[in-house]
Amino acid sequence: LLGPAGEPQPTIFAEMTALAARTGAINLGQGFPDEDGPAAVLDAAREAIASGVNQYAPGRGMPVLLEAIATHQQRFYGLQVDPHREVLVTAGATEALAAALLALVTSPDDEVVVFEPYYDSYAACVALAGARLVPVPLRFPDFEPAPEDLERAVTDRTRLILVNDPHNPTGAVFSAATRERIVRLAERHDAVIVTDEVYEHLVFDASHVPLSTIPGAAERTLTISSAGKTFSTTGWKIGWITGPADLVDAVLAVKQFLTYTNGTPFQPAIAVGLGLSDDYFAGIATRLRDKRDLLGEGLRAAGFTVSVPTGSYFTVADATPFLAEGEDSGDFCRRLPERAGVVAIPLTAFASADHRAEYSSLVRFAACKRTEVISEASARLRTLV
Ligand code: PMP
Ligand code: GLN
Repeated sequence: LLGPAGEPQPTIFAEMTALAARTGAINLGQGFPDEDGPAAVLDAAREAIASGVNQYAPGRGMPVLLEAIATHQQRFYGLQVDPHREVLVTAGATEALAAALLALVTSPDDEVVVFEPYYDSYAACVALAGARLVPVPLRFPDFEPAPEDLERAVTDRTRLILVNDPHNPTGAVFSAATRERIVRLAERHDAVIVTDEVYEHLVFDASHVPLSTIPGAAERTLTISSAGKTFSTTGWKIGWITGPADLVDAVLAVKQFLTYTNGTPFQPAIAVGLGLSDDYFAGIATRLRDKRDLLGEGLRAAGFTVSVPTGSYFTVADATPFLAEGEDSGDFCRRLPERAGVVAIPLTAFASADHRAEYSSLVRFAACKRTEVISEASARLRTLV
């Protein structure tokens, strides 16, 4: 986590957002929307602050939000969740991930299976928890794990299988066969599943299938989500974790010493959001799908080969035609502002040192931006030669 001289290393998102700010380039790097979310949610937060909802929330979260999360799980997925025993509000999905790993890893021999490339905090938190990371490769362009890779990775040493579906950075949504395979392997080797489903409402042309709905999964699965993605409130850091009461209790035991509680006035506001109409939830997926299409067209017109994502904010493109001799996607992204006035994220940032070479020509672009911003970025990228 530290550089050669013991200095803290900025995350790739912090580095690339700073690069965009310094150069004035269009930021298709860090995944955050450039428009506000629903007015009803923003108004509810203002109202909560104005009416004095500003002190510590209860440790598990405000009852109104716990109940809204349980109702949401029933409404969208038919899942029965006890709001007061099987839900925990966290400081974003980031804290839920950290607290789950710290709670559930108990020995340095424990292994955590992750799909690589992976969201950057996964490897950092596995390291903080003192476990061993076992990557399962996802390969361009479809990013579906090969059954034999998965079978090889999950063993009796596996404590946790850490899933992310829809997947950051690839935009992939796992097939039904992959989901089923993950659950059967977890059962066979008595592993816990932690599944990060923060992009649950950003799936295109299909409905999201939570892993915990697969028969046999619910009793061993913790599911993580975040209001940041669904309500365009990434700065509020309201996330949650749902699952069996004993596993949620273990996560709460850690969370209470990380942040204790978080975001009191934002919690009732997110409860309002979770109760918005079906049109709201369908609308955010449709609008993002249109942006994905616009970005994909722009990238193809510029000369990239593109993997078409089925969910999430992101599109992965192969930048091989634009790489100079010896350059990788990290070099390409660091030079992209001066070459074309655009910022993107290299996939090498989401891979372990041993496997970085596999991703050395791939770049992640974020589509969660206004259409005029995507169009302008596309026009700029067409000037690349
Ligand atoms: N998991 C994934 C896959 C993400 O993409 C992100 C954020 N972009 C997070 C977790 C973190 O979510 P939060 O901001 O709610 O902490
Ligand atoms: N999750 C966002 C992304 O993948 C960024 C979050 C962060 O900056 N840590 O771009």
